[in-house]
Amino acid sequence: MSGRTILVWFRNDLRIHDNEILLEATEKAETIIPVFCFDPRYYTETAYHTQKTGSFRAQFILESVADLKISLKKLGGDLLVKFGHPEEILPEICKKYQVDEVYHHREVASEETEISSMVEDALWKLQINLKHFIGHTLYHKEDLPFPIKDIPDVFTTFRKKVEREGIIRSSFATPSKIEVPDHLESSELPTLTDLGIESPIYDKKSVVKFKGGETQGLQRLKYYLWDTDLLQTYKKTRNGLIGSDYSSKFSAWISAGCLSPREIYWEIKKYEKERVANDSTYWLIFELLWRDYFRFMFKKHGTSYFMEEGFKGVKQDVAINQEVLFENWKNAETGISFIDANMKELNLTGFMSNRGRQNVASYLVKDLKVNWTWGAAYFEDKLIDYNPASNWGNWAYVAGVGNDPRENRYFNIEKQAHDYDPKGEYVNLWLKD
Ligand SMILES: Cc1cc2nc3c(=O)[nH]c(=O)nc-3n(C[C@H](O)[C@H](O)[C@H](O)COP(=O)(O)OP(=O)(O)OC[C@H]3O[C@@H](n4cnc5c(N)ncnc54)[C@H](O)[C@@H]3O)c2cc1C
Repeated sequence: MSGRTILVWFRNDLRIHDNEILLEATEKAETIIPVFCFDPRYYTETAYHTQKTGSFRAQFILESVADLKISLKKLGGDLLVKFGHPEEILPEICKKYQVDEVYHHREVASEETEISSMVEDALWKLQINLKHFIGHTLYHKEDLPFPIKDIPDVFTTFRKKVEREGIIRSSFATPSKIEVPDHLESSELPTLTDLGIESPIYDKKSVVKFKGGETQGLQRLKYYLWDTDLLQTYKKTRNGLIGSDYSSKFSAWISAGCLSPREIYWEIKKYEKERVANDSTYWLIFELLWRDYFRFMFKKHGTSYFMEEGFKGVKQDVAINQEVLFENWKNAETGISFIDANMKELNLTGFMSNRGRQNVASYLVKDLKVNWTWGAAYFEDKLIDYNPASNWGNWAYVAGVGNDPRENRYFNIEKQAHDYDPKGEYVNLWLKD
């Protein structure tokens, strides 16, 4: 081990289970310095006049960081929490504690990768290496049957080949002990006020109390699989709208990295061996594959995912009064109950079902003819489970400028409401007080 010190830079990987950077650092260095930076760039207004991180997600991240700090302390370590730009903070810590190397997990979206590049440049000036790891997906990119640039733009083609030829690696073990430098400074978490964010008000009708942190994420995994066997019926219930149990609700924990998709996969495999394997147990893995797919597509197509014309270069027709229409949509005032109920749920809780998301997105783009990127930016502000690839990838798909092979997919909202909310229970829940 030779007295080495490695800085472990946590970002959207707020966990100690299945975390390669943490495990490898503890194996290769005598002391490690786990660090999380609250980067002010994530707590500002966007070009779309939305918040980059709204209150539900900001609170969730604070809770997740707090939980990680506790877990690291239990292992004998700590988490250094800082507020500021990582490209300034990390070199300072490196100088102060004579760090030999910095580890982090690679991101795919442009803002995140630009920050990594700035950190890399700043560390390079100190002759310190930033080592990149891959740790956000079910499949490691090197275990895919094609290089990223050749990944098919049609999901089904990708899925079939990956399911046949891809490999999912085992999860990494949790370190049993962590050594930090003797005089590691103490640090406190900021408050929401420090971040310039208002406190969220939780509506009692929220599907789940999404409390951030690996502890809660792993509890939800246990609940959904082992405690309730809900996994066995997932395929039948997943298009539901009301309550905590129609779908897994793993997304917020996965997006912050509190739950590793690979850990979920192996837990499902264990469940299939010990209890039952059916089309529902398969289907949850199928959905996780969608998540992987959008991440790989981001890597392949880069910033074009954030452009109005997408990577397909399709020009969307927009209405002359799209500003007014957009305001109505955001404020749950379109007059279409099914849309308004979903938008109200989003605004009051930070969550919306997958069925709801597809409908409100399609309605905004195809019926109201509003620029789809405005909707995506609004989701970025509000969603507790927001992550760039899943959000912008799905929006581009619905808008017809991304991966959907069907030209002009259209959701008939009236029919959707009739099929998925036949008795109007969901609409009543959100629109009647
Ligand atoms: C317009 C739009 C925007 C979206 N934005 C996001 C987002 O920012 N963050 C996000 O995590 N999901 C996003 N989704 C995907 C999906 O709606 C949510 O992942 C899902 O509703 C979360 O609930 P759950 O965890 O109970 O999902 P489950 O149905 O239980 O699925 C299990 C997991 O699979 C993954 N998953 C499921 N469906 C998708 C999908 N279509 N794309 C990518 N991953 C998927 C999620 O990680 C999810 O937690 C979006 C979908 C649409 C149509």
